Formats: sequence, C-alpha cells, structure tokens
Amino acid sequence: MAKIALLEKKCTGCGHCRTVCPFGAIDFRDGKPELNAACKVCGLCVKNCPEQALIRLETRAASVDKSQWKGILVFAEAGRGRLHPVVLELIGKAQELAAVCGDPVYAVLVGDGVEACAEELRHWGVDKIMAYDDPALGWFRADAYAACAEDCIRTLRPSVVLVGATSLGRSLAPRLSTRFHTGLTADCTRLERRENSDLVQIRPAFGGNIMAQIITTNTRPQFATVRYKVMNPPERREEASGEIIRRPIPKGVAESPVTCVSVTPVPPARSISDAEILVVGGRGLKRESDLDLVRDLAAALGGDWATTRPLVEKGWTTNDRQIGLSGRTVRPRLIITCGVSGAIQFTSCMNASEHIVAINTDPKAPINQVAHIAITGDLYEILPALTRRIREEKHASL
Ligand SMILES: Cc1cc2nc3c(=O)[nH]c(=O)nc-3n(C[C@H](O)[C@H](O)[C@H](O)COP(=O)(O)OP(=O)(O)OC[C@H]3O[C@@H](n4cnc5c(N)ncnc54)[C@H](O)[C@@H]3O)c2cc1C
Repeated sequence: MAKIALLEKKCTGCGHCRTVCPFGAIDFRDGKPELNAACKVCGLCVKNCPEQALIRLETRAASVDKSQWKGILVFAEAGRGRLHPVVLELIGKAQELAAVCGDPVYAVLVGDGVEACAEELRHWGVDKIMAYDDPALGWFRADAYAACAEDCIRTLRPSVVLVGATSLGRSLAPRLSTRFHTGLTADCTRLERRENSDLVQIRPAFGGNIMAQIITTNTRPQFATVRYKVMNPPERREEASGEIIRRPIPKGVAESPVTCVSVTPVPPARSISDAEILVVGGRGLKRESDLDLVRDLAAALGGDWATTRPLVEKGWTTNDRQIGLSGRTVRPRLIITCGVSGAIQFTSCMNASEHIVAINTDPKAPINQVAHIAITGDLYEILPALTRRIREEKHASL
C-alpha cells in the first residue's frame, strides 16, 4: 500500500500540487493541501512540489507463511436446490491448479436445504465439502454468507478461493477478501499456478489493451472470480467420493441486521451464454430494423442472437444480449459474426467458441484472426441468401 504524506513544516501553501494533480484530488484547508478520496497515489504532486513537502510512503504488508495455506476452495453457489453451472467449471480449474502443488480441492456450500447439492458435489472430484445448511441462510444476505465462508476459510486454510463472477459472487468475494486483508482479482480469463503456490491471475486490463498477470505475493488466501463459460467443467464421475462436513452457522449469523422483507422471483431467462448457436450483429448493420437479418438467420439455425456493444449503446437492444468485457462471455458450438470488426474487448469473450464464422467486407478485419471461416463480403447480400438456403435445406429434409 502506498500513500502521499505532507511535511507541514516545509509546505508554503503555494498550490502548485493542486495545479498538477490530474484527478482533482487535492483540496486546500487552512492554506495547506489535503488529499481526498480521488487520490490515485500517482506521485505527480510529489515530483512537482518545489519545496519537497510531499512524500510518498510505502507500507509493506507482513508476509504470511504460505506453507500454512494449502488447497483450492470453490464457493459452490446454489439456488433452488441446484448448483450454478459455473461451480463445476471452477472445480475443473481447481483440480488443475491443485495438481501443481499436490493440494486438495474443497467446496463450500451455504444456504437452506443444500444437502442434495453437497451429495452432487461428491461426483465431481472434490475432497472435502463444507456445508452450512440453515433456514437463516434461505436468501442471500452478504453478511451472513460471508460469515459462513469466512468460517470455512479459517478452518480449511486454502491457498486459493475461486468464486463465480455471478451477481452473488461479485457481492460476496470482495467482502471476503477484505476480511482476510488479501488480494482479489475479478473476472479472470486464465488462471495458472506456480510451484511456490502463487496463483497467476490473468485478465484483460486497461480497456482490454493488455493481458495483466496479477499475483498476490504476500498474503493468503488468493481470491479470484471467474465468469460462467470461461473454464471447462470436468467429467461427472459415476462413483461418489469426498467427505461432507456439516457445520453449524457461526454465532450471530441468524441475528443479522439485514432482513429479507419479500422476494419476487424473476422467471428464468435464457442467457446468450447458454446458447449452442449464436448469430451476432455488429456496427456493420445500418439500421435497427436490419437486426431482423441477424434474428432470421438465428431462427433458421435454431439458435439465439447477440450484438456488440455499440448496438446496445444505440439502444437497439439490451446489455443482456451484448458479448464482451462489459457484457457476457459465450462459448457456443457455432458463432456467426456479421459486420463485427473484432475488437479485443469483444473477441476475448467469444474466442473459445468451437466454430467461428466471420462475415465482414474488410478482409483485414481483426475478427478474421480468430475466425475459422472468414467470409469477405456484404452482410446485406450474404445473410438473406444464407437464411434462405438453410430454410430450403431444412424443408427438403422434412
Ligand atoms: C473498457 C471497454 C470495454 C468494452 N466492452 C465491450 C464489450 O463488452 N463488447 C463489445 O462489443 N465492445 C466493447 N467495447 C468496444 C470495442 O472496443 C469496440 O468498439 C466494439 O466491439 C466495436 O463493435 P463493432 O465490431 O460492432 O463495430 P466496428 O468496430 O465499427 O466494426 C464494424 C465492422 O463492420 C464491417 N462492416 C461494415 N459494413 C459491413 C457490411 N455491409 N457487411 C459486412 N461487414 C460490414 C466493418 O468492416 C467493420 O469491421 C469496449 C471498449 C472498452 C474501452
């Protein structure tokens, strides 16, 4: 951790620091600079202070004994008696990461009536399943769920904790990592492990322009969230193995100050992440009504449709149809992109698809670098012809 400190005796109150600060992070009180919450500790004020009255302080976190933290723990999110599918994907990755250091794989379940999920987890190669099953955990309350997961972590002392980047996981993981004063990397697209047990957490950064490798060097556990459809689930095993440890809920959890007043279930919607076939429209489409070309092809193929971000920004569709860093990650068997250039923020969230077909007028479009089949041409000619042909073939085979 770093922070900027003021040596009051040296400061003349000249105001130069405020002028150079690009974040508007310096207020003046009683003629002296005071740094506010906008400070990014960039150090420009330190560098430019004519009196050298500002200094950068580095505080080093005390290192933990890494050998005391072993194993990979997966937060097994469950709802309505079913495991979220991202849990199985995380278990697959946990097994790979655990193998590097010969570690066990753990899972923690929190909820009301999670027994069946705990039993199911025994078919996925988890060594220990810790279950917190209590009516007080019927609905997700961040404080209660975090208290149970914290209890599990203090008991098992895992080196790594993996959490699905779902709405629940995104709320839970930061609360947990702050309880342990340790690092959390959100939305990892790749995870690797070093023999010294460090987790290499890889994700796009700076608007997708670089792939950052983030390491939690001094503290444990190492927290990472991963989106659905990024990792591969392992094969389900016929025989059950692994131990279920049923734990009482920690003290005070039932008396949480947060009360669930009412719950309105939202009808389960189909997500583009679940689609086997996707047709995607990009800014190559000129009018909103032209999205019908995309929808028609998707319907003819028995698939779903999606878009790039600019079409969401134009208000042509909603964010739940957007593929990309600020949308969803998809991995269908077939994806056909139409008038999509292939920016990294888009391709990084669809490039694991099994078959990628790109339709673009520009033969040099970056999308062609990830496409298995690149069709150079006008989507306004290709899409209607392709849809017609597929319908004819289908009709003929009836
Ligand atoms: C932090 C950040 C996050 C972002 N997140 C996302 C995200 O989640 N999802 C996302 O999509 N973008 C995201 N973006 C934006 C991204 O950088 C691109 O701007 C965007 O993906 C471009 O969308 P596009 O390919 O539809 O449009 P363009 O880049 O404008 O490409 C249009 C393509 O259509 C082709 N074309 C034009 N006419 C035709 C035609 N008649 N037939 C065939 N082809 C034609 C053109 O040759 C061109 O290649 C993000 C950007 C940032 C900075």
